[in-house]
Amino acid sequence: MGRSSFPVAIAVCLFAASCSRRDPANLSVDDAIASELAHITAIDNHAHPVKVTGAGEDDRDFDALPADAIQDPALPAPFTNGSSYFAEADQALFGTTKDISGRKAQEEKSRGDLYPSWVLNKTNTDIMLANRVAMGRGLPNDRFKWVPFVDCFLFPLDNAAAKAKDPEHKAFFNSEEALLSRFLREENMKQLPATFDEYLTFISHTLETWKGNGAVALKFEIAYLRNLEISNPQRESAERVYSIYARSSEPTPEEYKILQDYVFRFLCSEAGRLNLPIHIHCAVGVGSYFRVANADPVPLESLFNDPGLRRTRFVMLHGGWPFTREAAALILKPNVYVDMSGLDYLTYPAEAARAIRLYLESVPYRVLYGSDASPFSKDVGWEETAWIGSHYGRLALGVALTGMLRDGEITADRAKELAHMVMRENARQLYGF
Ligand SMILES: [Zn+2]
Repeated sequence: MGRSSFPVAIAVCLFAASCSRRDPANLSVDDAIASELAHITAIDNHAHPVKVTGAGEDDRDFDALPADAIQDPALPAPFTNGSSYFAEADQALFGTTKDISGRKAQEEKSRGDLYPSWVLNKTNTDIMLANRVAMGRGLPNDRFKWVPFVDCFLFPLDNAAAKAKDPEHKAFFNSEEALLSRFLREENMKQLPATFDEYLTFISHTLETWKGNGAVALKFEIAYLRNLEISNPQRESAERVYSIYARSSEPTPEEYKILQDYVFRFLCSEAGRLNLPIHIHCAVGVGSYFRVANADPVPLESLFNDPGLRRTRFVMLHGGWPFTREAAALILKPNVYVDMSGLDYLTYPAEAARAIRLYLESVPYRVLYGSDASPFSKDVGWEETAWIGSHYGRLALGVALTGMLRDGEITADRAKELAHMVMRENARQLYGF
């Protein structure tokens, strides 16, 4: 099914049906706003679509961190087992809630390489930014835009201390080390370069290659790995740490932080040069060991305020949840954006709407729609989470706009305009497509 033939009428019905099932007192959406939202083909700022695989082939590239290392996802009620969201998504996507793996396999087989694009059509999504280690089969560049991960460049030295923290950190750092080795191999290097100069050149060259291969942004999920206090060290200090430890023992935590912080700012600066916005995970993360303080985007302010990084655009992913007021204040800065991806994992639409309203009452042209569609469990894949993000994200945005309209903050025409800006136009401006 082509994009243009997406059945708009069906989307409107699904949207309206769900609205009426919910408590209209709390989730009331103005009819004109609901209808406008249902018709907009979205640009999804953040998601993890899965590639089409052959028999026996597995796709591990949808995230840099191994999700299966997380024993207890520790997610709030909307995304715990048995949530009604999953059955709703299956009914909408596959027309049934029975034998979903069989039904999905059948759909995948019949659609082949067009299956991921079919999922976009079913969720009224025009373009999905694909946050993946590498792109792959069935993810064409006109519908899926690549956002690679860059955290591994921060951790080239011995990571034993970080791995000793807990089982999740151990798995995450093993994965980052494997990724760095993979990117070194792709540049024909068997080990870390001998000098810091060469290491930075390797990073720059890799980013340039990615840009040439279609990357539209770069993603940090550093909040899963360490705190967000990024100092501004001298290059000589970072070089000293690298030259001592690149080939030998473990640096002290203080020494290692100097190197990490320098490389972080270097990556942000290179992203500005290459016109690649920086995406940063800003919200409570999956896993019971995640440090909630790392969800707070306020420590990132020193980056946003660095005059040397003002041409780098930063996108705080997941709305800064639960630090949504802080996120709303940070988008006052000219190079800072926020997206609403994953709010549907983290709370119900009533509360998501309150967060979105705060952003819209701050700087509406720097607010982006996102789903955070991701493989979640054996039966809940990126397809279901794409539908949940699209459906409940539009609902939350509709509630926010309706509240602003009824409180006299905006006109009916402005509400429609804001709906288009958040669902696609702000992203088009930011990425230039
Ligand atoms: Zn994500």
